[in-house]
Amino acid sequence: MILEGIQEINEIKTLLINRSKIVITTHQNPDGDAIGSTLGLFSFFQKMGHDVWAIVPNEYPEFLQWLPDNKEIINFSRHKKSANRIITQADLIFMLDYNDVKRSNDMMDAIVSSKARKVMIDHHPFPLLQVDFSLSFTEVSSTAELIYEFILALNGQQHMNKSIATCIYTGIMTDTGCFSYNSSRTRTFEIVSHLLSYAIKKDAIYHQVYDNFSLQRMRLLGYSLNEKMQVFPEFHTALISISLDEQKRYDFVTGDSEGFVNYPLSIKGIRFSAFFMEKKDKVKISFRSRGSFPVNAFSEKHFSGGGHLNAAGGESLLSLNDTIKKFIGLLPKYIQELKA
Ligand code: 5GP
Ligand code: MN
Repeated sequence: MILEGIQEINEIKTLLINRSKIVITTHQNPDGDAIGSTLGLFSFFQKMGHDVWAIVPNEYPEFLQWLPDNKEIINFSRHKKSANRIITQADLIFMLDYNDVKRSNDMMDAIVSSKARKVMIDHHPFPLLQVDFSLSFTEVSSTAELIYEFILALNGQQHMNKSIATCIYTGIMTDTGCFSYNSSRTRTFEIVSHLLSYAIKKDAIYHQVYDNFSLQRMRLLGYSLNEKMQVFPEFHTALISISLDEQKRYDFVTGDSEGFVNYPLSIKGIRFSAFFMEKKDKVKISFRSRGSFPVNAFSEKHFSGGGHLNAAGGESLLSLNDTIKKFIGLLPKYIQELKA
């Protein structure tokens, strides 16, 4: 067990002896791991008898809104005043699934200035967070896996139940692409096995997350692959872009482009994929790679981003076209790494 014998755990245990005001936060544009971890830990602390709030920076896809206690989540962008007050008054703030306070977006100032003790639980490399307790382990599949370990380390097994297990399973499932990557440690499967013992509905969870899209989303995917994918075989790279105009045409809602960035990697010989999404004020970019090409370093260097070795994100303030041009212009620099 990865958290066994860790000094921070004993100190956190001591802090949790008294009833505390706990705020759980996660990164902007929360994904399945962010929401699963947040709600799993939220339920756990509720069962322990603490006063607990879950606050996320902005909206997240509908395919995550079925999770147990989803209604308890406070969306910071819609409830700034009350959320700021809750963060300011907290005794403990948990920062889940992010390694840089900037990733909490507009919540950043409130988190930084809060006098609460701060605990990071995360699996991204190169943590930059200023926290009192850092539980940062890059080898685990997901933050959700760490939440499971954290509950165990706090001797909280008696509070584990089907709802918490469902949240944690959802985080592990989504962050491993349904166990297709980041999931080669035996411990991940031991944990999954234990989660199944709570009678979670594994197949239904898959169905809720991956078979719940609108017809328009499916059409947008078809259009993106057919007309918007550019392939650069000499660089083992492909990209997809979607403009604001195209989003309007396909009634785009948050979450509709989830997973698009992965499709080009199914093409033989493609090892680097980029997905460009035009927003009102910037272009949001997702990067994925197969093998050793570090998309986190690439994104950090050229697109103010970061993430994992094979999955990262970033952004650009150039126009959509200029951003794509910049990206294509960078490829020759990386030909050796991309060939490998
Ligand atoms: P996605 O492409 O699914 O949005 O993100 C993939 C990975 O990159 C996630 O681990 C996410 O936390 C990270 N990531 C996405 N966007 C950014 C960003 O703008 N900055 C940083 N530092 N990481 C990001
Ligand atoms: Mn994660």
